[in-house]
Amino acid sequence: MTMESPIDLRNCISDRCFRCFPCLSNPARRSSLGLKVALVVLHLIYAGVLFLFDKDLIEKTKREPWYTTLYVLLFVATLAQYFFTACSSPGYVLDAMRADNKTDALFRKTLMTSKQPASSKNGSVVITVDGNQSGRNFLESNAASWTKVVMEMYPPGSSVRSWTCTYCNVVQPPRAKHCHDCDKCVLQFDHHCVWLGTCIGQGNHCRFWLYICEETALCLWTSLLYIEYLNANISKAWWIDVIMISLLVALSISLIFLLLLLLFHSYLVLTNQTTYELVRRRRIPYLRGIPERVYPFSKGACRNLYNFCCARTSIYNLERLPTALELEEKAKPYTCLDVLSCRCCC
Ligand SMILES: [Zn+2]
Ligand SMILES: [Zn+2]
Repeated sequence: MTMESPIDLRNCISDRCFRCFPCLSNPARRSSLGLKVALVVLHLIYAGVLFLFDKDLIEKTKREPWYTTLYVLLFVATLAQYFFTACSSPGYVLDAMRADNKTDALFRKTLMTSKQPASSKNGSVVITVDGNQSGRNFLESNAASWTKVVMEMYPPGSSVRSWTCTYCNVVQPPRAKHCHDCDKCVLQFDHHCVWLGTCIGQGNHCRFWLYICEETALCLWTSLLYIEYLNANISKAWWIDVIMISLLVALSISLIFLLLLLLFHSYLVLTNQTTYELVRRRRIPYLRGIPERVYPFSKGACRNLYNFCCARTSIYNLERLPTALELEEKAKPYTCLDVLSCRCCC
């Protein structure tokens, strides 16, 4: 009879576990899954503790069921939005390239005389996803078409090499960046969110903003319920007070963080910027030298908001770099007439 060491036993258990759930063999996916489970558990603890100790809330639920129903609906919607955002694509450059090639092929088929690969609107290129053609040969044979589309967005004379990602070997449109966690180039890269386990980019920034909104509302409502409980029941049982006060302190810290995050991302949306562009402004070649108060990609607060809210994941919107003349226009100081005509809005 042989005695197995604890390490052998642990390896044996993990091997069996990985055989049953192959996705767990990847450490990155394992930690991402762990975070998701932790988030759900944390939400359940906060709501569970409240319904366990707060007898008044249970009484209120019996009297006014709509109040608790609304809270539960927000609770479920927040968690659903979290998973919806975590599973969404941030808009990878390679996917846009495939979509562009597909659009290009369809366009050539229908309009033999035209050479325009995708619809062009206000200098930006809109690429519609239609089909899932993929494969290395397909990508190689059509890389030239993509390079042409992308290089038209940079000032004439720009070198293809300086805008080619050395990891993906693909030409990056303006505002795209390679994410080392996802190992892919992302369109309108904002940041890689560890909490969601995905990048935030053109494809899911709106969903991310909605998620922060819902999480802030849920956090605020839960804090109010905790305060209400403590107001009515403080000093009835000291150990319940300790639990409730500790949870409320952690909740208040999360609420402040969420409110600041919501304000910050709302500002980014209204000015059409990304976190990466704001933080690394002086190090991004095409933003270097542009005055701080000039937002090069802004089309006015209303238009920025409309584009942000109505962006569809099936459409890749590639924005070209603004010309020197456009930047000069944007840098002009505001006059009384500009304020009256809402220059910042439209
Ligand atoms: Zn890349
Ligand atoms: Zn990423």
